[in-house]
Amino acid sequence: MQSIKLESEILTPSKVVCVGRNYTAHIAELNNELPDQMVLFNKPNSALSSTLFATHNNDTLHYETELCFVIKNNELAGVGLGLDLTKRTVQSKLKNQGLPWERAKAFDGACPLSPFVPKAQAGDLHALSLQLDINGERRQQGSAAEMITPIVALVRHIANQFSLLPGDVVITGTPAGVGVLNPGDELTLAIAGKLQVQTRIAE
Ligand code: ZN
Repeated sequence: MQSIKLESEILTPSKVVCVGRNYTAHIAELNNELPDQMVLFNKPNSALSSTLFATHNNDTLHYETELCFVIKNNELAGVGLGLDLTKRTVQSKLKNQGLPWERAKAFDGACPLSPFVPKAQAGDLHALSLQLDINGERRQQGSAAEMITPIVALVRHIANQFSLLPGDVVITGTPAGVGVLNPGDELTLAIAGKLQVQTRIAE
């Protein structure tokens, strides 16, 4: 089992619960309909990763940069950034057939996570803003204030569907600007004023 760190504590997520279609601009860019209920799906512990690749089993991967929260004692304990890596072509086929998305989103390595900032240092959760630069160019930016369902309500809703165990991570949907990863790309992910991570796509 893979683990994450929150300050000095090591936590082992049983799952990552993901939210789809939580920013209207991203819904529009993929020509999706505005859902009447939020889209939820899970990634297993085996999807966690610290190394980033541009492909998996020869399928091209697309990035979705998302604010994520680690749960402890039934509460939000830390905030970080995650990439909801997606095989977009596979996902489109599954969507058209009305099938589950795991083949497109739950494969090994499909959920790289940044380090987590303790909640006490995160300030107002609904004011957090995220950004992704690739090779020095801004690709994604968004703010928790633009979410269709705000963070606290989102986590409460999710906890009613799936028990959130200590270490579980909730990843809250992507703003617009999703796209493909290429070998050698330099990624800079940030939560303004709180966290910055630089990483490179393996060749
Ligand atoms: Zn996503």
